[in-house]
Amino acid sequence: MSSDCYRRRMDRDVIGGLLTQWGESSYRMEQIIRAQRTGAQSWDDVTTLGKELRARLAEHGPLWSVTPRERLVSVDGTVKWRLGLHDGREIEAVLIAHARGRRTLCVSSQVGCALGCKFCSTGTMGFGRDLTTWEIFEQALIAAHEADQQGARLSNVVFMGMGEPMHNLPAVFGAIHEMHRPAPGLGISARQIAISTVGWVPGIAELQEFPLPVRLAVSLHAADDETRSKMMPINQRYPIYNLLSACRRYCDTTGRRVFIEYVLLDGVNDSQADAKRLANILRDGRFHVNLIEYNATGGEFQGSRPERRELFLATLERAGLEASVRRSRGADVAAACGQLVTAARGKAVGKVPTAS
Ligand code: SAH
Ligand code: SF4
Repeated sequence: MSSDCYRRRMDRDVIGGLLTQWGESSYRMEQIIRAQRTGAQSWDDVTTLGKELRARLAEHGPLWSVTPRERLVSVDGTVKWRLGLHDGREIEAVLIAHARGRRTLCVSSQVGCALGCKFCSTGTMGFGRDLTTWEIFEQALIAAHEADQQGARLSNVVFMGMGEPMHNLPAVFGAIHEMHRPAPGLGISARQIAISTVGWVPGIAELQEFPLPVRLAVSLHAADDETRSKMMPINQRYPIYNLLSACRRYCDTTGRRVFIEYVLLDGVNDSQADAKRLANILRDGRFHVNLIEYNATGGEFQGSRPERRELFLATLERAGLEASVRRSRGADVAAACGQLVTAARGKAVGKVPTAS
């Protein structure tokens, strides 16, 4: 482990506290964020602050609480980072390129994840810790700078990296406020920010009360409890009926529909009977289904064959559901949730899925 793994955390609360203690204006904080946004690497690069102030801040810790350790660029333009934290832990972030200069960031909300879904690399790591608001927001600052360098714009954020965002909602909400607010925030429209959940029912109720109209995506991945429980242990606590009831309450309260995530796994959840069952439980018009191509992670699961996927999609559409297929991106850079970190630990890793 390198020595900088042990550097003290220097996130916004710490910096803000120091600035107040030293009698500095709160505007200093805005100057710091602006510098990070435009690629400052260290306190020396924050030239809008006086030399003496920079030196004092540097005595307390580094400018960034999140530092790129590895940056991989896919042939399709997807960029994936392995990012180090002050305590030596690691997370991942992925920037996905779209047409017309738009970019989507897939952001991590926790180190690892406690929920242990069988098909997910992050799930195999177990839980490390929650990220702070600042550790989440700095992923977006890094991505926004990368997008700028590419002559593009960070337009969308999806909480589909490592972790379960609903288990860390205060920090997630804080980061969303920063991403959404005008400069030196990132000015991203709340409707272009999506929180994806394993189906943590109390979190869905809490999101209902959040004032910004962010999107909700729910990882359903199966249309019956037996199959879902085998893939996702959370289903024993919140079975499908309870989960969809929470989604319906969310729709009725907010007027926003829910995006259902459904990763197609060969021979597990991709039969015609599964498609019909799914259409049946989602038939009330409050849902949009995203069929996701699975990025194999070296475990027991394989993605569905293309013809089976097309058939599944056609069955949903025939039943009147709104559905689309989300293509895997960045497979050559292991862009899927948890894949890069598990690879760096020397575990077997296959292709990586991106989550948007
Ligand atoms: N914990 C949250 C958000 C992070 S996972 C959740 O589960 O929703 C984001 C999405 O990626 C989820 O839909 C998850 O099921 C999916 N996913 C995980 N591993 C994957 C893989 N190897 N291939 C495709 N999708 C995967
Ligand atoms: Fe955690 Fe989401 Fe992976 Fe499940 S799919 S283990 S909830 S990160």
